[in-house]
Amino acid sequence: MSSDGVADSVTIDGVLVGDVRIPESTAELSDVLREVTADGLHSAIVGGGTRLAFGNLGGPFDVAISMRKLNRVIAYEPDNMTMAVEPGCTIAQIHDVLAAERQSMALDAARPERSTIGGAYCAGMSGPRRLGGGSLKDWVIGVEVAGPDGTVAKAGGMVVKNVTGFDMMHLHYGALGAFGVVTRLNLKVFPAASASRSIELRYASAATAHSAAVALLRSQLLPASVLCWNDGDSWCVSVRCDAPEGAIDRLANRMLGLATDAATAETAVAVSDGSVALQPFTSLVELTSGDIIVRLPLVASRQTPVIHELADAGWRVCADLGSGLVYARRPAGAGVEDMRPELAGAATWLALPASLKTGRDVFGPTPEAVGPILQRLKNSFDPDRRINSGRFVLGL
Ligand SMILES: Cc1cc2nc3c(=O)[nH]c(=O)nc-3n(C[C@H](O)[C@H](O)[C@H](O)COP(=O)(O)OP(=O)(O)OC[C@H]3O[C@@H](n4cnc5c(N)ncnc54)[C@H](O)[C@@H]3O)c2cc1C
Repeated sequence: MSSDGVADSVTIDGVLVGDVRIPESTAELSDVLREVTADGLHSAIVGGGTRLAFGNLGGPFDVAISMRKLNRVIAYEPDNMTMAVEPGCTIAQIHDVLAAERQSMALDAARPERSTIGGAYCAGMSGPRRLGGGSLKDWVIGVEVAGPDGTVAKAGGMVVKNVTGFDMMHLHYGALGAFGVVTRLNLKVFPAASASRSIELRYASAATAHSAAVALLRSQLLPASVLCWNDGDSWCVSVRCDAPEGAIDRLANRMLGLATDAATAETAVAVSDGSVALQPFTSLVELTSGDIIVRLPLVASRQTPVIHELADAGWRVCADLGSGLVYARRPAGAGVEDMRPELAGAATWLALPASLKTGRDVFGPTPEAVGPILQRLKNSFDPDRRINSGRFVLGL
């Protein structure tokens, strides 16, 4: 067990958790959980700490367990395109290991050098490259989880076509650790595109920008991601294209031509760094600043009036056309009371100040049929509410 600068203090919704344990192996983690539970205490699990603003007001938290030292790549078989990692591996670390073998996963983290794969899996958010590359939800082929008494359970395996057993991989995805502490993830990985381009087009209005973005989305050019976002009074469309080296210039030119034919752009540029096309998204969903950040499920055909309305009300907006999600951000002081009830009712609040979380389920309403199932699952996995208590859907 050790300590490090990053994890020496943990604050969740403004409350400091002073006792931080940093296990360096699954066995040590099991010991911590067993001890904490035997003492009648409650633990909060922390990866890189970049998404702690997400989740309901929970607690009490007596102990924080940092996963950052459980950060080994356990196995990597490029020929089988599989990888097994501990949850504290950072997204940057995984990108580096895969890049050496010209493989990849379309992980669009805001702070890749700090955010962990375990945190990404437990927070269950996917980025704009889900359009072309799928999401972490689809790439996890095996999971290992420690329960509140330290018992470690495994599901799935290291083969891409896993069809036996219960699907525990999807249970823990996006559950904010409500059903246990993830100690290992087995992942399938993908060949990396040999070249990528970012295309950015600037328009005078939301409607023209969005119509160009829709034309790209509906085309047969297969963009890896399509975003429509506001920058002051202008509206921009950012597109990422991935392709073999020999095809990338032709593809980028065809995308530029198609977008400008669909709606006349004020400017249109292509740059050779594919990550530029993702920045409007990664900068908007950076959750640690204390701003309010909301996610609205809206298919591309219904986004235009909403992005207009949000921008008029002072929100910074980024519509992800491929995932059918609109993200919006504003300073905490601006509040949320002025959002129309139809929009607010469908919203997931990715970041809210603690005062605005009181009395609110940040995940929005849970379908009637699902609530009792989730309650029973929590009762089975963590009956005494020892792990990440209160932060998941329905305050589980
Ligand atoms: C809208 C949005 C979309 C995103 N899309 C992507 C994407 O496509 N690809 C991508 O890589 N990243 C994406 N990210 C970023 C990704 O969510 C972060 O990389 C990651 O969630 C944060 O990791 P962390 O280690 O800082 O998590 P933390 O903030 O430390 O933890 C997040 C949550 O997970 C729990 N948790 C953490 N580790 C464990 C564990 N081992 N067991 C149980 N519970 C645990 C914590 O208790 C906490 O509730 C997105 C973020 C947002 C906001």
